[in-house]
Amino acid sequence: MILGGTSEAHTLARTVAQAGIDAIYSYAGRVAALAEQPVEVRVGGFGGVDGLRAYLRDNAITHVVDATHPFAQQMSRNATEACAHSDVPLIAFSRAPWRAQTGDAWRAVPDIDTAVRALEGPALHVFLAIGRQNLSSFAQQPQHHYLLRLVDAPTTPLPLPDTSVVIARGPFSFESDRTLLADKRIDVVVSKNSGGTAAHAKLEAARALGIPVIMIARPKMPERRETHDVDEVMRWLHGETERGV
Ligand code: NAP
Repeated sequence: MILGGTSEAHTLARTVAQAGIDAIYSYAGRVAALAEQPVEVRVGGFGGVDGLRAYLRDNAITHVVDATHPFAQQMSRNATEACAHSDVPLIAFSRAPWRAQTGDAWRAVPDIDTAVRALEGPALHVFLAIGRQNLSSFAQQPQHHYLLRLVDAPTTPLPLPDTSVVIARGPFSFESDRTLLADKRIDVVVSKNSGGTAAHAKLEAARALGIPVIMIARPKMPERRETHDVDEVMRWLHGETERGV
C-alpha cells in the first residue's frame, strides 16, 4: 500500500504498476479532484492506528510505503505504529528538504507558531504559501494582507480578515511566481520546507526579487527506514519479496 497525496507517491504508483506489482494507493481525500492512478485507489482516513491495523489485516497488505507529505505527521506516526504492531514492513519515500542558497534571505523557524510570531509588527503583504491547513494560526497577526494559493476554492469563510486567493495546482514556474510576487507587492513569503521541485519556484522568485522567506522546518517523524530514491523503494519491495516476507 502506498500512502499518498504527493508527487512522490504518484511516481511510485507508476513505477510499481510498470513492474506488475499489485498495489493500492491511499488518499486522505483532502482535495476535490484526485489525480488518477495506474493502481487501485482508496480514499479516506483509516480511523487511527487501530483502523489502519484492521485495514492492513483485512486487505492482506504485505508492505507499506509512506509517501505522504513531509508535514503529514499524524499519518506517518500512525503508519509506523500500526506496521510495527502488525509486523508489516514500512519504508518512507520522501523528498529531500530545501536548503538555502547564496542570495536567499531565509529565516528558519521550527514550527508554525514560531512563524506566526515572526510576523509580529506592521502590516505587510505576506505570501502565505502553506496550503489550506494551519491558516487559522495566522489569525493572531490580522494586520497583514495574506496572499493564499490553494488547490480548491474555499467553501467556508477563511479565518483571515484580509486575503487574496489564487486557485492553482503546481508545478509552478519561476516566471509566473516572480510575476505573482511582484504584482502582489509581496514583502515576505512564508513556506513549509516541503522540498521537491513543484513548489520550489516561489523560493527562486523570492531570491531574484530580494524577498525574505520564513521557512518552517519539517516536523519530527518517527524512527523508520527512509529514502528519497524510488529505485531504493523498488529494491526494498523486491528484496522483501524474494526473501518471502
Ligand atoms: P495528517 O495530519 O498526517 O493526517 C491526518 C489524518 O488524515 C490521518 O490520521 C489519517 O486519518 C488521514 N490521512 C492522512 N493521509 C492519508 C492517506 N494518504 N490515506 C488515508 N488517510 C490519510 O495529514 P495531512 O497533513 O492532513 O495531509 C493529508 C494528506 O495530504 C496526506 O496524504 C498528505 O500526503 C497530503 N498533503 C499534505 C500536505 C501538508 O502540508 N500537510 C501537503 C500536500 C499534500 P486516520 O487517522 O483516520 O487514518
